[in-house]
Amino acid sequence: MAPCTMTSRPIKTRFAPSPTGLLHLGNIRTALFNFLLARQAQGLFLLRLEDTDAMRGHEKYARAMELDLRWLGLDWDEGPEIGGRHGPYAQSERGPLYKEYFSSLESRGLAYPCFCSEHELAISRKTALAAGRPPRYTGKCRALSAPDVQARFARGEPATLRFRVDEGKTIEFEDKVRGPQIFRTDDIGDYVIRRSDGTPAFFFCNAIDDAIMGVTLVVRGEDHLTNTPRQIMLLQALGLPLPEYAHIALVVGADGAPLSKRTGSKSVQELREGGFLPLAVSNYLARLGHTYDASAFMDLETLAENFNLSRLGRAPARYDESQLVYWQKEAIKHTSNEELWVWMNSKAILSSYVSSFVPKGKELLFVKVIRDNITTPEDAFIWAGNLFAESHKYDRDAKSAIDKAGSDFFKKALECFNNDTATFHSYVKMLEIVTNKKGKSLYMPLRAALSGEVNELISQSGRVYEWNHGPQLEAIWELLGVDLIKRRLSEAKTTTK
Ligand code: GLU
Repeated sequence: MAPCTMTSRPIKTRFAPSPTGLLHLGNIRTALFNFLLARQAQGLFLLRLEDTDAMRGHEKYARAMELDLRWLGLDWDEGPEIGGRHGPYAQSERGPLYKEYFSSLESRGLAYPCFCSEHELAISRKTALAAGRPPRYTGKCRALSAPDVQARFARGEPATLRFRVDEGKTIEFEDKVRGPQIFRTDDIGDYVIRRSDGTPAFFFCNAIDDAIMGVTLVVRGEDHLTNTPRQIMLLQALGLPLPEYAHIALVVGADGAPLSKRTGSKSVQELREGGFLPLAVSNYLARLGHTYDASAFMDLETLAENFNLSRLGRAPARYDESQLVYWQKEAIKHTSNEELWVWMNSKAILSSYVSSFVPKGKELLFVKVIRDNITTPEDAFIWAGNLFAESHKYDRDAKSAIDKAGSDFFKKALECFNNDTATFHSYVKMLEIVTNKKGKSLYMPLRAALSGEVNELISQSGRVYEWNHGPQLEAIWELLGVDLIKRRLSEAKTTTK
């Protein structure tokens, strides 16, 4: 059967989550790909809530999902809250419409009631598998006569509704990621489109809504690939337009198994609360199973411009937290000091805020000094405490650097302020002369005294190759100002053994 697609229509993609839990990286990646493809073609991105199952908590999860999408900047052009020509956009409100399509199929003999019990079906599946046949429905209720059906309904027997599948045919379509696909109808068999409790099967509403909402391209996880021939048959039977399909590889954890809590997968909400920036998440996800030529950090518009369906890999995409952290650092580099100040104060840490440490007027200078040394608001909080708290808590290495320098070093460091020490450089020169120390043995205790930590990095060979890993000492110097520096030096002096 030749596929009928509607490629001449302007592109419309969609995200159609079932609000049964919080959005995870895998789901939001699907949303992002759909969003980028719509933006790239100046098309439309639609959001639809697939809330037909009987699970509880839909409302709560639907709102959380909308919040996640908005946080990432994935604003939809049609859907809940904003409406559109094809609403309502929650499937729980579309029951009457699905009913019409059921009736249309039934009245034309394309769907029929099936009275087989779960138990019977399970046995026939087992028998088929044991005989090496596909576990398809045997067609037992296919030929029930109208009076039989009436009688069984009159007895109150529950029935599902099955779609009548043509025998001996093939369903073919070109998947935009996986290439040509061929399914034999004989392997599929008649399938249930309405459950015995009257609720429609997920893939029935999903296909009908895509068609009548004018979706032209469905990008979704490859776990839905086998739904597609069933959906194509339904749409063809109903004379509805077919979208194009792109089934993307799933995201897996480091162990190769589907992403789960156990393998470190986080919900979007957790990432947001952990201080990840939206563009860090988008830059990472847009490269998870998809490649760009450029390795540069991009805004959403540029990610969209350069997105390419043909660059989606077929192999499972491996989640790697260190990559996410890399993009977080990139995102920080591309965020202004003003915005970073708001970001680092957006949540309380240990019931306190960065702003409670940093003196008024020094906010932006503080951000400038530490911005290359932070990944999360917690990091900023630690720096704020290290630099401005009433008194210092030295980390182990800082304490040992201070002890090693001894109280005489700090006594002299304080005395240097009596001379002309207008700049950091002139001060350090002076200190070199009076202490007869230079390099590491001069900077390290100074850094330890001023910031409470020394951030010494030791290379694998055991060689100290980077002991000045924190913000530039000169920048810390300027940020603190003479009064606080003197206080810190006195503290260091008294703390030495
Ligand atoms: N509600 C389905 C899901 O969340 C949507 C599948 C699709 O995108 O077609 O998996």
